[in-house]
Amino acid sequence: MDKNDTIFGKILRGELPSERVYEDDKVLAFKDINAAAPVHILVIPRKHLVNLFDVEMDSEEDKALVGHIMAVAAQVAKEQGLEESGFRLVLNNGAGVGQTVFHMHAHIIGGRDLSWPPG
Ligand code: 5GP
Repeated sequence: MDKNDTIFGKILRGELPSERVYEDDKVLAFKDINAAAPVHILVIPRKHLVNLFDVEMDSEEDKALVGHIMAVAAQVAKEQGLEESGFRLVLNNGAGVGQTVFHMHAHIIGGRDLSWPPG
């Protein structure tokens, strides 16, 4: 299997459709197909990294990419009108915590009460 033969690899290559909300030369952001909240957007790097465990401590490129994903997440959240209500950023690392697509992705989730811990 090609290393990037994940659903998100196919979305990146345009082989599968997605509702894109932001893209640049490093990342793509698109709506989650199974939204857990009124706003649920995924930000993924174009580079195939499985999850944060794939980020090398001595790779300035990878660490900058993680920072860029976070900056893009905040920008997209603003564009989606979440600046006042806020948003949660979730990045599942490993099947044991629910990662189902093995191409790193950050979930932007917002638009409903996400108080934590739940009351
Ligand atoms: P994970 O559980 O790996 O952190 O999150 C994977 C996310 O990808 C899930 O929220 C799921 O709804 C979303 N997803 C899975 N397949 C597709 C797809 O084909 N298109 C889109 N837009 N989202 C998908």
